[in-house]
This record gives sequence, C-alpha cells and structure tokens, in this order.
Amino acid sequence: MTTSTGSNFIARTQSVLDELEQGGQLKHLQMIEGPMGPSIMLRDRGEVDCFCSNNYLGLANHPEVVEAGIEGLRTHGAGTASVRFICGTFTAHEALEQTIADFLGVEASYTFVSCWTASEALFPTLCEPGDCIVSDELNHACIIDGMRLAGVIKKGVRKAVYKHSDMDDVRAKLQGLRSDPEFTGEIFLVTDGVFSMEGDIADLPSLRALCDEFGALLIVDDSHGTGVLGATGRGTHEHWGMAGDEIDLFTGTLGKALGGGAGGYIAGSKAAIEMIVQRGRPTLFSNALPTTVACSARKAIEVLDADPGRVAKLHANVKYAREGIRDVGFDVLESPTAICPIIVGETARAIAMSNALLDMGTFAIGFGFPVVPEGTARIRVQISAAHETAHLDRLIEHLRALKAQT
Ligand SMILES: *Cc1c(COP(=O)(O)O)cnc(C)c1O
Repeated sequence: MTTSTGSNFIARTQSVLDELEQGGQLKHLQMIEGPMGPSIMLRDRGEVDCFCSNNYLGLANHPEVVEAGIEGLRTHGAGTASVRFICGTFTAHEALEQTIADFLGVEASYTFVSCWTASEALFPTLCEPGDCIVSDELNHACIIDGMRLAGVIKKGVRKAVYKHSDMDDVRAKLQGLRSDPEFTGEIFLVTDGVFSMEGDIADLPSLRALCDEFGALLIVDDSHGTGVLGATGRGTHEHWGMAGDEIDLFTGTLGKALGGGAGGYIAGSKAAIEMIVQRGRPTLFSNALPTTVACSARKAIEVLDADPGRVAKLHANVKYAREGIRDVGFDVLESPTAICPIIVGETARAIAMSNALLDMGTFAIGFGFPVVPEGTARIRVQISAAHETAHLDRLIEHLRALKAQT
C-alpha cells in the first residue's frame, strides 16, 4: 500500500496501537453469534453468562419486541430515505415519541439515532451565548462532548464542572453565577441519573431544590436509570418519588433497558422539543431512527409498562448479586442500580481478571484508563432481570475462585 508523500499516518497510528498492546490495554472485540440474552454464544469460545450488557430488562430478544420490529419492517419498509423535516417522519416515530413522553410523564419527546446524538442536539440548540452549562465531573462522555460542541457552535456559552455529586460545590457554582453582574443568561444543570462507571445515583431532590433556588433548568441523562429504577422503571426520578415534570429535560437511550436496539431521545416541554425540531443540527441534517427500531422500542416500553414484575425481578437480582459479591470479599458500592463495579486498581489487572472470569464462563468487562481515572480500574458487573438464580450463583462462584487466585 502506498501513502501520499511525506505522510507518517500509518506508522504513527501503529505505534500507538503497539503501545496499547504492550501495556495490556488493547481491546479485543468479542463476536457474538445469535441474540443478546442472559447467556450468549461467543465465537470460538461457546456459551458464556453475560454480565456486561445493558439488557437490564431482558427485552433485547423478547418475542413481542422482535415481532414488533419485523412488523415495522413490513409496514414501513427498510429505510426512511430522508431527514425528518423533509419527508422522513413516519407514524412509527410519532407513536414512539408519544409513548416515551407518556412513560416519563412529560409533554413531548423527540428521537434520534442515539442518545449521543440527542446530547449533541440538545446543548448547541437550546443554549444561547451568555448561558452556562453546569455539569457533574463524572457525567457521560456524550454530555461532555455536547457541552464542548455548544461552546464551538455558539460562542459565549459558558461551562462549569462540579465535583461528583457534591451539593456544596453545586451551590457554590450556581451562587457564583447568580452573583456575577455580568451573567444574565440561563443555567442548564446537567447530570447522569445513574453514573455508568460508579453505579451510583444523582441526588435529584437536592439538585431540584438548588436549581429552584438559583433559577436553573435541570437536565437528567437517565440512560442507565430508565427501565431500571423506581417501582415501575420510570427511572431515577421515580426512585426519588419525583414526577417526570419535575425534571426540565430528560435525555435517554433506547439502546439499553428499552429493547437495546439503538436510538435516543430528548423529552420535556413542548417548547423545548419544538426548538429541537426547528433548529437541531442532527435533526435537520441527519436521518431519523429507523422505523423498525421505532416499532420495537415502543413495544419494549409497552411490555415494561404491562408488567412491572420485570422491574421487581431486576431489583431482587441486583440485591442478591451485590450481597453475593460482598460475601466473596470484594468491595461493591451499596446502590439500587444494576451496575456493580468492583474496583481493582491498575488497568492491566482489571483486564487480566476479566479474562480469567471469561475463561470460567462469566463475561464481565474490565474498564481502565482512559474510561475511568488511572488507578481506579474496575470490573463492571451488570445485572439483568433475565438472569436466573443459577446465573447469579455461577457469577458469585467464579468471583470466589478469582478472589482465591489473587
Ligand atoms: C450509554 C449512555 C449513552 C449513550 O447512549 P447511545 O444511545 O448508545 O448513544 C448516553 N448517556 C449515558 C449516560 C449513557 O450511559
């Protein structure tokens, strides 16, 4: 292969990859044969128990969800062949967006091909020069990049980052803005509902009170909370006994508990959603969620809504797994979420431990730098309502064997 004269690109890139390999940090993608479920078939390895998917409610391969996708394919065909505002809005989108809004208890919602895209639409569209976005330091990467993009597209959007879940720091940041005579804009305070690497939850009642005190909007990305928290799986706000309309704007994903296909949304007031429709760059220049996924995701929400027993089973599994992990002698944060991180230190160690677990038949991923800070690498165990006690018992048995080795 030839490259243009003087280009060092391939050599430079290869040397980065070599460094990752030598440091034991090179990721190897596992090929899954067949569908996502509590146990999955890995190519060249066979069946393993899956403890690293976001298939929290086991809806990714639910027969009704699959059938709704197939029916959507039959009804609307394979492609939208247009962005939404030209001729790419189908009744399947309208139905899904109404279902999401009703589920969350807000006025309206609008979908995207991912929650990542929803974040990139939200901040640059709704923030104006002179506004400030106030963000938890552990917020998801799509929030960080959405904020960055807002600052690039609209010069003069300010940013402030507070210490993780530190309400004194939140107060200091909000007070600082409101006591600055130069600052007259809107404040958008944004937090994950459930933090994806820690498995802890945002203190939404305290954040709501602080936002009210200082006149700020509260935005919650509940990608890991939706379908998981609260008795009926509405999410982190339900866990705290809050109504959906106490949150100014939600973002969320359809790629986790709600069928796991793909897609994301913004949900909230009619005015905010209409602004996204009119002015969002991903809305205006990028195709919609495929209608097949719109149909399967809507069915996933209906299945969840028809049977909150699924959420209760998830909660029982989470409790059982956390107790088991602790009983083995690993530290795991007390939390109602389905994310159970076991902190082990160095990145290479987390990867080695996750490989050892995989050899035993338990698939749980080790996360290290740069996904989490250096020295806090972890194995992230994720629990699903689809797990039976036998799956959970095998997980605990394998963790016990791992503990004995280390
Ligand atoms: C997983 C996740 C996302 C990404 O969702 P996609 O729909 O896959 O883009 C966004 N935000 C948070 C908090 C997440 O956990």
